[in-house]
Amino acid sequence: MMKEKNIRLRTGKKGVVKPAHPWIFKTQLLKTDPAIRPGDIVSVTDDKGKFVGRGYYNPKSEIAIRLFTFTDEPVNKDFFRRKIAEAVEKRKSLLSVTNAYRAVFSEADALPGLIVDVYNDTAVMQALTLGMEKIKPDIADMIDEVIKPKYIYEKSASPFRKLEGIKDVTGWWGDEGPGRAEIHEGRVKFIVDIVSGHKTGFYLDQRKSRMALGNVAGGKKVLDLFSYTGGFSVSAAVYGAGHVTGADIKEEWLGLARENAALNGVGERTEFIKADAFAMLKKINDSGEKFDIIILDPPSFLKTRQSLIAASKGYRQLNVLAMRAIADGGVLATFSCSHNMPNELFSKTLKEAAAQSNKKFTILKRCHQAEDHPIVRAIPETEYLKGYFLKISG
Ligand code: SAH
Repeated sequence: MMKEKNIRLRTGKKGVVKPAHPWIFKTQLLKTDPAIRPGDIVSVTDDKGKFVGRGYYNPKSEIAIRLFTFTDEPVNKDFFRRKIAEAVEKRKSLLSVTNAYRAVFSEADALPGLIVDVYNDTAVMQALTLGMEKIKPDIADMIDEVIKPKYIYEKSASPFRKLEGIKDVTGWWGDEGPGRAEIHEGRVKFIVDIVSGHKTGFYLDQRKSRMALGNVAGGKKVLDLFSYTGGFSVSAAVYGAGHVTGADIKEEWLGLARENAALNGVGERTEFIKADAFAMLKKINDSGEKFDIIILDPPSFLKTRQSLIAASKGYRQLNVLAMRAIADGGVLATFSCSHNMPNELFSKTLKEAAAQSNKKFTILKRCHQAEDHPIVRAIPETEYLKGYFLKISG
């Protein structure tokens, strides 16, 4: 058998890796053997030669090694089959609620750099790193074998790939599918545009919060300001809202949002308009119009830790404007989807927003990413989506 490629960690503090965390940084490695090629699977040992884990290597990234396992076991097709099967098994109970779920969530499922989202009969796979890029034919085989979708679409398109030194790749593995899938979350149906939509097509991570609208939306006047293809808007209408306005800055999503409303027979109680959330809220506040429920699910306001101050200012402004536009006793459903915005800071920002808008709130519900995006305690980066349903008074 060929000798396995091995990388050693540095001596002393510099070589110490976080327990149970799969990332090893470039600065933690001893000089590596030039025979080790970017993307290779390697074993990692500490300065004394003791086994640490097995993962893939890419010197182009600051995170030079991502580990699959901390056990001395082979990483091969069998391993991938087992990990995908374990991940799918963990999501099984969701199938009573939905036919769309994240089957594999990267590091949280011991398959770093891999996302697999299932939309009805189509699996969408995303390889985000060079290491994953190299093994993706085996991964596609195992998705086919374990999940048995009718179609597999690869949507390896992400800014992460640039950091890894690879170009985006998209296309079908095997038979070409329709590129759109009909899914349901509870009794709400959606068409997902897999090929042209954001990410793999749909924000599966917000499922629980969309479904929670069922408790508050009955008879209400609702405003959903970052509506995308109508996830929250259509859910609110199906759960009995009197009228829903959805708004997105991108015209291109509004057509599908309207289609989703029609699919659920709630087209008459919903409207979708192209608007910037900030500008629209300012206008609403000038006119004095009030809403019973406002939903704020903006894209991440920060990509790096450096912009945290600017980001919290953005969240504060947005939430001030929304709180002002809510009728006394109404509900603000507000979210932040960046890992780098800690929950404490987001919560503090909301308190400041209430003070600034002369409102008070009680917390009706705390929201997290849905359970098919598991949060692994040893890997803090797996936790990113947070939010609240706030009851606003004053
Ligand atoms: N809540 C949605 C997902 C929202 S994604 C769901 O459940 O499916 C965020 C959306 O915000 C994107 O569609 C993006 O086009 C839109 N967006 C970004 N900036 C905006 C702005 N300033 N005003 C309104 N929409 C904006």
